[in-house]
Amino acid sequence: MSVAAVLVTGASRGLGRGIAVEAAAQGLSVAINYASNREAADETARLCRQAAASDAQHFVAVQGDVGRREDRERIVAQTLSAFGRLDALVNNAGIAPRQRADVTETTQASFEEVLRTNLEGPYFLTQSVANHWLSSRYASLLPGGFKIVFVSSISAAAASIMRGEYCISKAGLAMASQLWAVRLADEGVQVIELRPGIMATDMTSAVKEKYDRLIAEGLVPQRRWGTAEDVGRAVRAILAGLLPYTTGDVIHLDGGFHVRRL
Ligand code: NAP
Repeated sequence: MSVAAVLVTGASRGLGRGIAVEAAAQGLSVAINYASNREAADETARLCRQAAASDAQHFVAVQGDVGRREDRERIVAQTLSAFGRLDALVNNAGIAPRQRADVTETTQASFEEVLRTNLEGPYFLTQSVANHWLSSRYASLLPGGFKIVFVSSISAAAASIMRGEYCISKAGLAMASQLWAVRLADEGVQVIELRPGIMATDMTSAVKEKYDRLIAEGLVPQRRWGTAEDVGRAVRAILAGLLPYTTGDVIHLDGGFHVRRL
């Protein structure tokens, strides 16, 4: 029996792992994309097998840099050859600048690397998957049809002058989500942007003390760090078709951070 399949980019660690595990629990086969950390990708696969709802599901690690065109093509090809189909794409892979620097000192190299990975990658990966769906014309096995999720960030709207290139990449991703939502609405594809806040992963480990303090002081109304499970559960709700009448929309996963306060 064929089961629905999802490709999750950057699923070897952090939020992507949480998404992969929840998708497995939801009954999907999962392609676990990673950049270089094969061991971590294998561990995600193990956790997926543990969480899986049936024996019909498969979990494969797929190496590839989403910022490189030839890698993107290989990621999609390997996913399709593993599962024979694809029902959802979660564009999660992303990087912070290697060094935080004031906007007066952003280097061209950092700007290009962050934009290539965080914006160009998901934009063109989505294009590949959308064109696959448009040309192959099989029906989705997911309730409500095919799904595309973009994992952006509160940085799409909150200006951090020490990592301007990251903010710009995420603001661009917010528009990419709306563009693909409008283009694909008639094609049975739902597109949602998830906008996480301050999440406990390797990405934020270097600034843990700073955010521990800010969260304790009330920066986040719910007064805690977000987790990979918080994001995974939101993706699971989307995959399960629990949000049928929305597309191009933003779901904030930030404990209330985005609410303007007085
Ligand atoms: P993380 O812990 O640093 O994990 C990054 C993941 O992305 C790893 O699986 C890594 O693979 C993969 N990756 C990195 N560059 C890649 C590339 N070029 N191609 C393919 N995969 C790549 O990051 P995270 O905190 O989970 O963040 C996941 C997403 O959420 C990112 O888009 C990030 O911007 C966004 N986000 C994070 C936070 C936060 O506070 N952490 C908040 C808002 C939004 P390897 O293991 O092989 O390196």
